[in-house]
Amino acid sequence: MQVRHNWTMTELNALYALSLLELISQAHQIHIQHHSPAEVHFCHLISIKTGGCPEDCKYCSQSAHYQTSTQAQPLLQWEEVQTEAKKAIARGATRICLGAAWREVRDNKHFEEILQMIKELTHLDVEVCCTLGMLKEEFALRLKEAGLYAYNHNLDTSESFYPTIITTRTYQERLDTLSIVEKAGISVCCGGILGLGESSVDRLQLLHQLSCRTPHPESVPINRLTPIRGTPLGSQPQISHWELVRIIAIARILMPKSLIRLSSGRNEMSTEEQALCFLAGANSIFIGEKLLTVANPQPDKDAEMFRILGITGRPAFQKVG
Ligand code: SF4
Repeated sequence: MQVRHNWTMTELNALYALSLLELISQAHQIHIQHHSPAEVHFCHLISIKTGGCPEDCKYCSQSAHYQTSTQAQPLLQWEEVQTEAKKAIARGATRICLGAAWREVRDNKHFEEILQMIKELTHLDVEVCCTLGMLKEEFALRLKEAGLYAYNHNLDTSESFYPTIITTRTYQERLDTLSIVEKAGISVCCGGILGLGESSVDRLQLLHQLSCRTPHPESVPINRLTPIRGTPLGSQPQISHWELVRIIAIARILMPKSLIRLSSGRNEMSTEEQALCFLAGANSIFIGEKLLTVANPQPDKDAEMFRILGITGRPAFQKVG
């Protein structure tokens, strides 16, 4: 199937209206044209600076606007990052993501330290990704120069629903950061969160926004909200697993070559539920006990799932064929 960037909302609505089995079947056909069905990209996310974030994302335990149980922690030392990265690599991770709860990158000693961490990590032969908030062009170029492979910056939801969730930065600022990342020659990782109180139309509009980008983001994290006590969305009901599978399948059809990442929310899923996500086109996950501040499946539980489903890890730097 040809990779397209001109999807219409009418087409997306038609996909959403398909029976779930028909949708999964179509998505799986496209998936196996571009990817090995049993191969999954294993990523590991290290929170290198936790909490105290000036942004007001209503779902986030790290925002300084809300009282949550998350303990703020200053920038980690390289030795701690190295230890955690090596442990993840030994478990099969081929991408190490460094996350800092910042509004934006600034020119200071912390940024210099992160550049150094990127340089050191690239020597371990893994893809290095960062998520550090908004980026100016000069910082993107310095990250690229240090060896950064990918940059994560999520759009979270549709443009119209976005102001309900975040007021301290605009959707356009997020889009601008994505363009800066692309221009610097860094691979884009961009997705969203399901279950923020948005409608199904908002979910489709998010996918429309992502799939009309040229190129498509190389990786697309699809998160299912884990409500965090103390945040305004602390008692938000979770979306159904069927809706999650439906969105993954549509994302796979719209962006055939991207890595669709089943991200936050995996801890509450059974092996059977995750298997359905992989069949629908998900082919990337985070491994490790924690995903920033929320729990992720324990490594032995994941190892058991990989054994049952016959999942193998995707090598680093592999291009989609
Ligand atoms: S999601 Fe990121 S930007 Fe938003 S409050 Fe949390 S750490 Fe800050």
